[in-house]
Amino acid sequence: MSSNLHFETAAIRNQMERTHFQEHSSPVYLTSSYIFDDAEDMRASFSDEKERNIYSRFSNPNTSEFAEKVAAMEGAEAGHAFATGMAAVFSTLAALLDSGDHILSARSVFGSTHTLFAKYFPKWNISHTFFNVDEVEAIENLILPETKLIFAETPTNPGVDILDLQLLGEVARKHNLLLVVDNCFATPYLQNPIQYGADLVIHSATKLMDGQGRVLGGVTVGRAHLIREIYLFSRNTGPALSPFNAWILSKSLETLAVRLDRHCENALKVAEFLEGEEKAENVKYPFLRSHPQYEIAKRQMKLGGNIISFEIQGGLLAGREFIDKVSLCSRTANLGDTRTIVTHPASTTHSKLSEDERQEAGITPGLIRISIGLEHVEDIIKDLQKALI
Ligand SMILES: *Cc1c(COP(=O)(O)O)cnc(C)c1O
Repeated sequence: MSSNLHFETAAIRNQMERTHFQEHSSPVYLTSSYIFDDAEDMRASFSDEKERNIYSRFSNPNTSEFAEKVAAMEGAEAGHAFATGMAAVFSTLAALLDSGDHILSARSVFGSTHTLFAKYFPKWNISHTFFNVDEVEAIENLILPETKLIFAETPTNPGVDILDLQLLGEVARKHNLLLVVDNCFATPYLQNPIQYGADLVIHSATKLMDGQGRVLGGVTVGRAHLIREIYLFSRNTGPALSPFNAWILSKSLETLAVRLDRHCENALKVAEFLEGEEKAENVKYPFLRSHPQYEIAKRQMKLGGNIISFEIQGGLLAGREFIDKVSLCSRTANLGDTRTIVTHPASTTHSKLSEDERQEAGITPGLIRISIGLEHVEDIIKDLQKALI
């Protein structure tokens, strides 16, 4: 695939080879396996002398097209696609970590990633240290002899904090650690962590990449030798992406840039509206001047993304009331959809955490997260205004 095209062009023009049918748009290859000409062809294929599709748990034209497209968008050497974002996170780390290794991770990571580090990896003697957003400057002090990688997400969920990728990249390089970034909230259109030294970039394609709340998917892109390890692990353990979902996701990437432009334009307008509302305190959006890491966001992101957080006056009860009062906005757990979505983490996604754990994760009782959609911005604002009364 060509890499010297502009982002928008590559997203549309990078596609798999045409068949003799001369189709204009990539077809879906719903096939579990592929046939061989003869015994020698089969032997050579299985011994990796030939690069070709063997079985769709290993690879498939649609999943490869999707992964290669994302790799091109991120400026990565290679990529591999997964059934979900969590399959990408788990398989990537499980493929690269050994018993005894240590992960240095931001505390504000996606809930299931947090659970993976805190509950499951210790079973295999893989330990972790979580650092807070305000500790990034001092993370060198947290590196242990057994530390293997740094893991981070930016912007964070649901607090919309920004981590300095430049700084993380420098620390990783200096200490010879792998830097793995979950770039889900920014998408490759807004931010490319590889530019700052990330070795691997992970996405939940379920969110803005699909962008329409239809399918689950995940992808990891980065250094070719690491992707090779991750591919071999996946080929044997089975977190393969469905070719149909890959086809949907690859099509969706064709419109990622135009969708994101509007998502971000709407989000900035809503964030500015919320800043003027008395009941909405501590409004956080990366491209608002009041954001604590505004300068870093401006440096590493093209636009501010589609997620806004704020604290509603009145805490837990007021948070629940707000959720009850919206009528246009959806009450659902997804994000990055065409439809605007409101969530109240303290009573839902983070309700099982103790008060202390919530505090550590920056989840205050009145925290509201909004994923801004593609409806007309005036309709979104009207709905939120009504819920804030
Ligand atoms: C949703 C999400 C994931 C997990 O993705 P799934 O596709 O739901 O498995 C991982 N990281 C981030 C930042 C997410 O928002």
